[in-house]
Amino acid sequence: MNFSTDTIPFGIFSFGESKKCLATAVDDKVIDLSFLANEGLFDDLDIPRPVFSKPYLNDFIALGKQKTNAVRDLLRKLLKNPTPDIMGAYFYYRQVDLHLPVKTGDYTDFYSSEQHAYNVGVMFRDPDNALLPNWKHMPVGYHGRASSIFVSGTPFHRPKGQIKPADADAPVFSPTRRLDFELEMAAVIGRSNPLGSPILVNEAEDYVFGFQLFNDWSARDIQAWEYVPLGPFLAKNFFSSVSPWVIPIEALEPFRVKAPKQDPQVLPYLRATDPTQFDVNLEVTLTTAAGTEKVISRSNFKHLYWTVPQQIAHHTITGCNLQVGDLLASGTISGREPDSFGSLLELTWGGKNPILLEDGTERRFLEDGDTLSIRGWAEKGGLRVDFGEVKNTVLGAKL
Ligand code: CA
Repeated sequence: MNFSTDTIPFGIFSFGESKKCLATAVDDKVIDLSFLANEGLFDDLDIPRPVFSKPYLNDFIALGKQKTNAVRDLLRKLLKNPTPDIMGAYFYYRQVDLHLPVKTGDYTDFYSSEQHAYNVGVMFRDPDNALLPNWKHMPVGYHGRASSIFVSGTPFHRPKGQIKPADADAPVFSPTRRLDFELEMAAVIGRSNPLGSPILVNEAEDYVFGFQLFNDWSARDIQAWEYVPLGPFLAKNFFSSVSPWVIPIEALEPFRVKAPKQDPQVLPYLRATDPTQFDVNLEVTLTTAAGTEKVISRSNFKHLYWTVPQQIAHHTITGCNLQVGDLLASGTISGREPDSFGSLLELTWGGKNPILLEDGTERRFLEDGDTLSIRGWAEKGGLRVDFGEVKNTVLGAKL
């Protein structure tokens, strides 16, 4: 990891047997914010010191942007020229454990990349009508499972379930044979709206605290058999993973780019005055158990048809109440070029075009012992904002 002082991410760490508490990171160091709080550094901001000693970021995020941005501004100045009295807050990465930063109440997964929706539509349904009629009128999504979201570094077992092989008349029970990743970003909600009060599209960014890298691990054979008519269920509930650092949305301000034009025009509640996306590079690396490594996809956060404010406006238009810590994942982010697709399903086109690795083996889907890493960074001029990575290893199915 190599976070500049332009990033100032927020996360949760522990050192040895110490309790979890809030941290930020600069260069190759993790900085203990509870130490800085107990030194009185944030007292002028009128924030209770114990907020920095919690096992999750939620109470800190709930302070609101005015306060969290004041902490961020203070840290940017302080960490550019650290004084000797704060050196007790500095740790090397190898000394610490990083933990799940946000306690997620509700998790929603959207489906906002046109190329991804098109590719899946072609493979799972009908090439002539790959996008369903609603797709360009609303950011389609589903309510996911929050309890199985874990932090980068956590291994997980290959899930088992019902699959129906193409040549079989009836389903069989089996470990998934088509384990896949999905390259996504997740927005962390920083402010709640009361039940019955939709969030306006032009105000929606005020409700976003920041972003994480997100991997929506998927079992394609379980998915193909179960998804009609209510969508993903067990194909997605066994494990999801996030990067350990939350990057505040303010850090991405220099990386705004115009959102793609939407045609047909969307309904008024989804129409923003000046819709933008963020230019964040995303890269996926596959590493085998033997150590063979290959970058299998390069994509970008800006490749989404629907914007995060549109997702929030749509999510709440019924009056649904978002809460601090809710996670809204983008959906798989696939670009137009085949090497920018955000899942193996697309990269190997349903397993038809395997990826050749340097050791002579090939991959259609993930094998036991494979490690999948998603990295993200934004760069412009001399400015760099890093996202770190979300990296997890697949273990064999439990007996
Ligand atoms: Ca997904």
